[in-house]
Formats: sequence, C-alpha cells, structure tokens
Amino acid sequence: RKGSVIITGASSGLGLATAKALAETGKWHVIMACRDFLKAERAAKAAGMAKENYTVIHLDLASLDSVRQFVYNFRQSGRPLDVLVCNAAVYLPTASEPTYTADGFELSGGTKPFGHFLLSRLLLEDLNKSDYPSKRLIIVGSITGNTNTLAGNVPPKANLGDMRGLAGGLNGLNTSAMIDGGSFDGAKAYKDSKVCNMLTMQEFHRRFHEETGITFASLYPGCIATTGLFREHIPLFRLLFPPFQKYITKGFVSEDESGKRLAQVVSDPSLTKSGVYWSWNKAFASFENQLSQEASDADKARKVWEISEKLVGLA
Ligand code: NDP
Repeated sequence: RKGSVIITGASSGLGLATAKALAETGKWHVIMACRDFLKAERAAKAAGMAKENYTVIHLDLASLDSVRQFVYNFRQSGRPLDVLVCNAAVYLPTASEPTYTADGFELSGGTKPFGHFLLSRLLLEDLNKSDYPSKRLIIVGSITGNTNTLAGNVPPKANLGDMRGLAGGLNGLNTSAMIDGGSFDGAKAYKDSKVCNMLTMQEFHRRFHEETGITFASLYPGCIATTGLFREHIPLFRLLFPPFQKYITKGFVSEDESGKRLAQVVSDPSLTKSGVYWSWNKAFASFENQLSQEASDADKARKVWEISEKLVGLA
C-alpha cells in the first residue's frame, strides 16, 4: 500500500515542496494539515499534485481545540498514519509586541512547542498502530537555534535560560511571553522555539524509540530564503536576503531542493536512525549534524516536556 504522511503547514514553502516531492513518487498519500483550507487546495493544484495523492484537513496549531479536532477528523478518514512531519512555523522578527494563540500562549512559542507537542503526543497512538515498515516522527529544526554555528551566533541568540516564562505559560500576564522570562523579542522567540523543537525530538527518542521502534528525527533543510517565513520582515531584508544567502554565505537552497531533503527524511531507507538532527553538505549529501550544547541538554529537554504536558492538559 501507499505510505500515509501528515505534513503540517503544507500550504507553502518547505511543507508544500515536501508534499509535492512525496506525491510525485506515487508511493505516498499526503495529508496536508493547514490552517487555510482554500490556500492549501490552491497550492496543491498549482504545484501539479494529482488529486488522488493528497487530502487537505484543517488544522490551526494556534488552538489546542483545533489540534484535537484535527486528530478526530483524521481518524474519521480511516487512513493509517505512517509518518508525521511537524513543519509549520511563524516568524515575527519585527513585531514589537507579542501576539497570542487562542489558548493565550505567545504565537511563535505556542504554535510550535505546544500545538505540535499536543498533536504529536495524540498521534503517537496512530503511528504505533501502523504496520508500515519504517514509521517516523519528524520535527523541523533550524540552524538559527544552534549557537555552535555562525548563523546561530547572529544576535539575538537563542537562550532558554531557566525557562521561567515557559513554565508560566508564555502568556505575558503573570510571566513573560518569552521562554527565558526576558522582554519580548520576536526573532529570539522564533529561535528559542526551534531549540524547543530539537529538544522535544530528542525527548521523544529517549522515551519512545526503544518501545515503539518509531524513528524520531529533526533536520536543518538549508536556508530557503524565498519562503513565506520572511513575509513579516522589512522589505529591504526580503530583497537582499536571498542574494546574500546565494552568493555570500552560499547556504541558499531552493524550495524544491529543501522539499527533496525533507522527503528523504520521510522516506529514504538509509535515514532510519532515531534521535538524529540531519543536515546536508555542499555536495547535497545528508550527514548527522551536531546540536549546540543547549539544544542537546537532556535536563532542559525533560523540563520542556514536563511543562508542555501540563500546559496542553496531558498531565
Ligand atoms: P512558510 O511561511 O512558507 O511556511 C510555514 C507554514 O506554516 C505555512 O504553510 C503556514 O500556513 C503554516 N502555519 C503557520 N502558522 C500556522 C498555524 N497556526 N497552524 C497551521 N499552520 C500554520 O515558511 P517555511 O516553509 O520556510 O517554514 C517551514 C519550516 O521550515 C518551519 O518550521 C521553519 O522554521 C523551517 N525552516 C525554514 C528555513 C528557511 O530558511 N525558510 C530554514 C530552517 C528551517 P499559511 O500558509 O496559512 O500561512
């Protein structure tokens, strides 16, 4: 049978390119989990995806109710779940004030760590039931949260501190909207949430890999300087960032290439190792990359897990 994969945020950028790459093989049915149903349908059509290779199901990760509704709707579809890809994200680098999810979490923090945490925890049951030979749960990471790299050292740097803001629910009322409890900075909020993504992947691996055989993985797909991720940035940045990445840092990858990379992590028989953060070298070959000290801190991973469980109502 065809593999069945859920990709969150598949209406643009990396998620769409991955959906397209997998659908084209004819070996995958892609469930596009998107907050804007029409945009996703249009994007799939424009990408030339054949109707029998995908289904769009509504999911707004900025609402825990919507996450639960999505899981219910997916189960109603009767499809198995072989791979889950947590890809959606928001980046608000120029915001001077935090915005909040339906549950009152800061948006860039709340969408990824909390929305995706609840989604992954609920769907673990479905992954477990699947008879697919290589089941995987993939959480998209980034170089920007890794302070052991050049890109990760561009200020403001990621830093979770003692996580007092996270423990307070990132609600900006009794505590800060920032994970470390500091004053709001949209670019840092994004980077911090990426560190949480990578920590959560490793905690999943420690808790569930041996028992379930599921592969847990993260990746840095390269700098896809043209995606919607940068839509909130100032116009000059949006104009100069793609050529800067192409000609100066040479870290630029096209959306198509990034989609092929994530599609490899979904389906390549050689990428089954669990607990790994994948990257690609200049020859476009995948390798196991090192995470920064903070992004591989087991104590912090456990703490992020425990706080997330409480905040999404699982503990
Ligand atoms: P895009 O902005 O193009 O894609 C983000 C996707 O997430 C969109 O489909 C968007 O939906 C969706 N999304 C945002 N908020 C929600 C929500 N609340 N509920 C459901 N879906 C939501 O950016 P990219 O493709 O660049 O980003 C994809 C991933 O790649 C992210 O995890 C990002 O951190 C990561 N990444 C990107 C890099 C880059 O250079 N671009 C580098 C490293 C990692 P909608 O279409 O409705 O807005």
